[in-house]
Amino acid sequence: MSSHAQDVLPSTPILVTEGLRRDFSQPADFIDRIGRTLRRRGAPLPVQAVAGVDLEVFHREVLAIVGESGCGKTTLGRMLTGIIPPTAGRVLYRGSDVTHMRGAERRAYELGVQMIFQDPFSSLNPRMRVRDIVGEAPVVHGLVSRAERDDYVCELLQKVGLDPDYRERYPHQFSGGQRQRIGVARALALKPDIIVCDEAVAALDVSIQAQVLNLFMDLRRDFDLTYVFISHNLGVVSHISDRVAIMYLGRIVELAPTEQVFADAAHPYTQALLKELPVLSAGKRQFDPIVGELPSPADPPPGCTFHPRCPLAMARCRVERPMLREVSDSHWSACHLNDGMGPTGAQRNGAGTEVATLSPYVEPEKNSTEAA
Ligand code: SF4
Repeated sequence: MSSHAQDVLPSTPILVTEGLRRDFSQPADFIDRIGRTLRRRGAPLPVQAVAGVDLEVFHREVLAIVGESGCGKTTLGRMLTGIIPPTAGRVLYRGSDVTHMRGAERRAYELGVQMIFQDPFSSLNPRMRVRDIVGEAPVVHGLVSRAERDDYVCELLQKVGLDPDYRERYPHQFSGGQRQRIGVARALALKPDIIVCDEAVAALDVSIQAQVLNLFMDLRRDFDLTYVFISHNLGVVSHISDRVAIMYLGRIVELAPTEQVFADAAHPYTQALLKELPVLSAGKRQFDPIVGELPSPADPPPGCTFHPRCPLAMARCRVERPMLREVSDSHWSACHLNDGMGPTGAQRNGAGTEVATLSPYVEPEKNSTEAA
């Protein structure tokens, strides 16, 4: 697990999100519209894919964002790269709000934050040769001249472990691991600061996953890169990440240095994810899978959204949403069980504001609780 540790500690945030939120409206079909008219209900409520995320990404770190399918991690990654705009909140790149960027500043952001997608096949144009997939964008953006393009592509292919002679081939002539390397070369060609990797190794065989992860780490050293690594698999990110953010139903529920997440997870959801990790041991092992399904983001549970599945849920959990609270140095958790922990009592409310006061909540009487 310690192989990810770097000699350079993160210091400057180059990407910051403040109260980032993204809603998607649900299109109502004909039957739904009639039913809603008869029942005098209005339009369906929007789905909150990302429900308020405050996060910093530091220079040269690998920040992993981990959660089940449907938790909003891909939508968050797409907002970081500017592929989709937020419904509310803002993304700051090198201190400037990206929604107000124009001209050269906007271009620097768009080139500086690149994304690598999960499916290495569908993310590459099947009609383009590798030479054009990798080399076209840097020419269009004036990073290299057309005359320099061929040498530039050869150099990048070598960097990602591909034979430069392959540049005349098409994507279907490569294996999954090779195609992902082409995707990496395409992202690198724009000389980014940050690469957002969305499940970038999930579609690959385990042995190829290890090779591609090693490649990511080599490139971080060679190109001074920062990664946001989105994955559903805590085991994968343990090898490469410096910090881990655990996402549940559109919110960050735990954020900590990787060692701390694995040694001393504070949130019951993180603890449950860790219990599900496969381990190599000779003895028998009892599995405690997380009970139930991820609730629909269209109708999230009240209070702590994890409470229907949490083995430690209390009455309070059903009515009050826990804030992300600093429970120890650089370790944040959103759980009522962590009340009173931490040196400062600092909290984040998912709306871009940090507050330093603890909640004045009072546990209700047992009977009134059951009613809630
Ligand atoms: Fe479980 Fe309550 Fe903590 Fe939510 S706030 S994780 S329901 S103990």
